[in-house]
Amino acid sequence: YISIKNLQKYYGTFHALKGIDLEIAQGEVVCVIGPSGSGKSTLIRCINRLEPFSNDSAITVDGVPVVPGRSLAKVRAEVGMVFQNFNLFPHLTVRENIMLAPRRVRGTPRAEAQGLADRLLARVGLSEQGDKYPSGLSGGQQQRVAIARALAMEPQVLLFDEPTSALDPEMVGEVLDVMRDLARTGVTMVVVTHEMGFARQVADRVIFMDGGAVVEAAPPETLFSAPVEQRTRNFLHAVL
Ligand code: ATP
Ligand code: MG
Repeated sequence: YISIKNLQKYYGTFHALKGIDLEIAQGEVVCVIGPSGSGKSTLIRCINRLEPFSNDSAITVDGVPVVPGRSLAKVRAEVGMVFQNFNLFPHLTVRENIMLAPRRVRGTPRAEAQGLADRLLARVGLSEQGDKYPSGLSGGQQQRVAIARALAMEPQVLLFDEPTSALDPEMVGEVLDVMRDLARTGVTMVVVTHEMGFARQVADRVIFMDGGAVVEAAPPETLFSAPVEQRTRNFLHAVL
């Protein structure tokens, strides 16, 4: 469903991604792990071209090439993203945050967008919070709103960049629970995370990156119990 071929990314002269090849199936849940600076964020930001990448690289989502122009708009409508710091619009209520993309991008009528927002809020356990502003919510609640907002465009793919890293420990669970539910719905998920327990339980495949390359990719039971590469072993030894 997502096809990545020879993904090369330079920041100026710095070679951040060194030829990544990755096929992700529809409905697959992939967790990306690896040390700081290994290129995890860069990789997932390339999938919807939040970062431009080299011309000799090719990414397609549902067969549509991720290149500037009309096809990029099509890809972005199918790919939702959730960031570490929620990135909610502070001047909009929670409900308005969720309604924004359907209203602007799809022209969904207001009442319909409102109904959709309220259904999504219920789904992430926040039925009572629609009229509040983001600043009136806890970090865990804000991140659940961000997930609801991403779902409002009914994406085929959801990208998560360390969605729980900015949260107080007691709020990590409520966000991971929502993500665990989503993983069962058949949406394709790519999750950069430090939550090894989540990766072990929920991922179909875990990808270990280091130095801008995929070092090892395997189902969690294999990658965590019997990693093949020494670099994977060193990393797991340090974090587990
Ligand atoms: P972390 O776990 O700390 O989030 P990461 O694996 O997500 O790390 P990236 O953010 O993808 O790593 O960065 C990969 C490399 O590219 C790092 O060496 C980083 O310093 C560099 N880099 C990232 N963004 C930029 C940028 N905008 N300009 C220059 N270099 C960058
Ligand atoms: Mg990162």
